Amino acid sequence: MKLLEFEAKEIFRNNGIPIPEGVVIKSPDELRRHLNGFTDEVVVKSQVDVGGRGKAGGIIVTQKADAVEAARHLFSFPIKGLIPKAILVEEKLPIDHEYYVSISIDRTTRQPMILFAETGGVDIEETARTGGPEALRRVGFSPLLSEVPGFLMRQILGTAPKELGPVINNLYKAFCASDALLAEINPLVTTSRGVFAADAKLIIDDNALIRQGITANRDLTPREREAEENGFSYVELEGSIGVIGNGAGLTMSTLDLIQHYDGKAANFLDVGGGAGRERVMKAVRLVAGMPDVKVIVVNLLGGITRCDEVAKGIIDAGIDQHVITRLAGTNEEEGKALLAKNGYQMLDTMEDVVKQAVKEAAA
Ligand code: GDP
Ligand code: MN
Repeated sequence: MKLLEFEAKEIFRNNGIPIPEGVVIKSPDELRRHLNGFTDEVVVKSQVDVGGRGKAGGIIVTQKADAVEAARHLFSFPIKGLIPKAILVEEKLPIDHEYYVSISIDRTTRQPMILFAETGGVDIEETARTGGPEALRRVGFSPLLSEVPGFLMRQILGTAPKELGPVINNLYKAFCASDALLAEINPLVTTSRGVFAADAKLIIDDNALIRQGITANRDLTPREREAEENGFSYVELEGSIGVIGNGAGLTMSTLDLIQHYDGKAANFLDVGGGAGRERVMKAVRLVAGMPDVKVIVVNLLGGITRCDEVAKGIIDAGIDQHVITRLAGTNEEEGKALLAKNGYQMLDTMEDVVKQAVKEAAA
């Protein structure tokens, strides 16, 4: 789950990273009683969890006297379609230089990896693309270490000031403490008053949300949330075929087969083991509820799951889209008979249901 800038900054601050003085406001007028704490100029920052806010007009550097107006503007100014619920107002830092630093997990080496660039700021993507391998340095290190070893830190920093080193180590502390997948500071700035994280990004591993005391994953769509509440594994994709399976293996191979026949899944849902009538009904309705879904493949293997229960669930769901089913195993005959009686299509093999669905989705 992505945290907002002000939330990430709070965590960074707690891990010893210097953060500009600032306040979080929920309405423009709230800002009035905080303005005394600021000197002449402030930075007014829209709190939406998308990158490139600066370029999209979500960061306003202004005189203190105009800050309330700037906040008023940002509260109704969508950035990549998102309206902020909060705005962060900070002292304007006297920036000398902007650096980029992030820590993530390198899936290939299975180690934490630091990315560092001597030219950070809003054009980092451009730097990464055109700057050559030296522009964005990558250094991995052992997850058994609690700090970045000195020789690696020198490699990361190059000619950048040494005082960035402790910030990077503290960023690693924050990264570990918050079970993060990504901790990023862009820009990490040097000023006459020292180093500061002028921006902050933190993505928490969804599997660690409970440990982190986060009860609801804000990044989920309403359907994804409903799936989570029902204990379904559910993922949304880009195509138009809905997929329901039981067990990760069967669900994944159904997806593979769709890909194999040049189809595209809109979503997939694993109902898990022993799903009864009610659960199957919920699963079918949930998958069908995504507007992109034109046709649904139900591929279920009856073990503890009983095919007749599955059939009843499909029928109960009573959805508009065409459901093509493949059932095999416990009470298969009863299930098939029920579906046939109610006019549902069944095919005997995975290949056949998938081919049929791909054909219908393309029509
Ligand atoms: P982003 O566009 O969403 O990454 O937003 P940032 O928080 O990184 O802000 C974008 C740019 O605004 C930064 O790269 C800075 O150049 C500038 N900026 C942000 N905060 C300050 C500040 O306190 N002082 C100054 N002078 N510039 C700032
Ligand atoms: Mn930034």
